[in-house]
Amino acid sequence: MVKKVYLDYAATTYVSSEVLNEMMPCFNALYGNPSSIHSYGRDAAAIVDRARDRVAAAINAKNSNEIYFTSGGSEANNMALKGLAHAYASKGKHIITSKIEHQSVLEACESLKNEGFEITYLPVDKNGLVSIAELMHAIRKDTILISIMAVNNEVGTIQNIKTIAKTAHENGIIFHTDAVQALGAVRLDVQDMEIDAMSLSAHKIYGPKGCGALYLKNGLRIEPLISGGNQERGRRGGTHDTPAIAGFGKAAEIAVRDLSANQQKLRIIRQYFIDKVKENIDYIHINGDPHQKINGTVSISFEMVEGESLLMLLDLDGIAVSTSSACTSNALQPSHVLKAMGLDDEIAQGTVRFSFGKSTSKADIDYVVERLVAAVKKLRAISPITKAGRR
Ligand SMILES: *Cc1c(COP(=O)(O)O)cnc(C)c1O
Repeated sequence: MVKKVYLDYAATTYVSSEVLNEMMPCFNALYGNPSSIHSYGRDAAAIVDRARDRVAAAINAKNSNEIYFTSGGSEANNMALKGLAHAYASKGKHIITSKIEHQSVLEACESLKNEGFEITYLPVDKNGLVSIAELMHAIRKDTILISIMAVNNEVGTIQNIKTIAKTAHENGIIFHTDAVQALGAVRLDVQDMEIDAMSLSAHKIYGPKGCGALYLKNGLRIEPLISGGNQERGRRGGTHDTPAIAGFGKAAEIAVRDLSANQQKLRIIRQYFIDKVKENIDYIHINGDPHQKINGTVSISFEMVEGESLLMLLDLDGIAVSTSSACTSNALQPSHVLKAMGLDDEIAQGTVRFSFGKSTSKADIDYVVERLVAAVKKLRAISPITKAGRR
């Protein structure tokens, strides 16, 4: 049997047993509709309330009613971008975001563009950082919203969110951040960081898939993305997914409770991995900011290697990693993030993301590096590109 090693925690995580235990009773014993008035409903509503308190506490929201449960990070991003744009369109129609956002932010912006909004996509430097000077330069009188992700999912770069938020507020602009990759990886405090709106997702922090939240500071207006009943204070229709919400609440609580311990462990694993890779493989580049990046994600570009092929060879050895290139009709499109960071297409296409989690051990890393060395060697032997140039 092939040994299996999962190094794709940035794509999704398993549901931890503590979280699963929290969810289980909500499937049958506590099956009421949280919107119902009778005791079944009240019991279910109490579960949703507790989860809301836990998510609010995890990001230090002032009030639990600033948390709106959604079907995940993508919906939260769509709700924030479209809902705030629509609510504040009378003030202006200009939005600022970055070139390295998650697809759900970029696509929501494209859809707003079709409605007549103007979008500025800020560039990033070679490490993936947005420049504050560029941001200030992009701000206009009619800018209503700035949306910059807290942590990038492909390379792990951490943005200067507090400074960006301050800059937004000095200009009377609302600030939203996609913090899906940040929760559990860095301390999040919406009050201290002056965040107006923030997207979260459960399945990146050992919670269930299909559940997330938008934090929206009280006092701000938003148009609902999903019309329906009066759930989520009229801002997000649809019967609550009680089991998932209960799981998300528990997962958020644990993510913050265990943050220091997890990060310390991940830092050691990460360094162990990078040292071993550097020792055994030449012509590599580690992407992301050398100082401002999370411990769980390592993006490596292997020269003279095609990333998709490397992924497939590792998969044969039971190792799960990811590339960020999207396969379109006939060509491999290099990742928009790596492109924005200035990597040329060939290097971008030789890039693989390794992301570690709670269960990653040094023995896993030993196995992965051994197989990685063999796979890179194999691919380089057949590569049309060599250090001396094209064959
Ligand atoms: C995964 C992810 C999302 C999407 O969250 P879903 O819950 O999968 O919809 C959004 N932004 C970032 C940065 C992500 O990593």
